[in-house]
Amino acid sequence: MKNADFREFNGDKSILLQCKFMDGEDRKELKKVISKSRNKNPNSKGYIPISFKGKYMARNRAVIMVNFNCILPREIHIHHINGKKSDDRLKNLAVLRDYDHLSLHSAGKRSKK
Ligand SMILES: [Zn+2]
Repeated sequence: MKNADFREFNGDKSILLQCKFMDGEDRKELKKVISKSRNKNPNSKGYIPISFKGKYMARNRAVIMVNFNCILPREIHIHHINGKKSDDRLKNLAVLRDYDHLSLHSAGKRSKK
């Protein structure tokens, strides 16, 4: 991972095979919330915030959950391949473990210097 270019890192979607399935109704509801969020502005961290069942969620996580029918545990992170945190198209999202994600970003910062 040290030499990885974090902008081109595609992640490993097989990590999602270990997730629990979503409840069918929740999945439908979350899909609706995502489709209504098209014109939303990013928050101060650059992510598109959505609200699902009264809770804040970053839309990137919701997109993965709906598409892969998977409840994302905290230790699974979603990375934006092109660096734009508001670009939540599926092809821009990489799935990876929290520790790999963190090292990906710190490696990216180092190589910029
Ligand atoms: Zn990232």
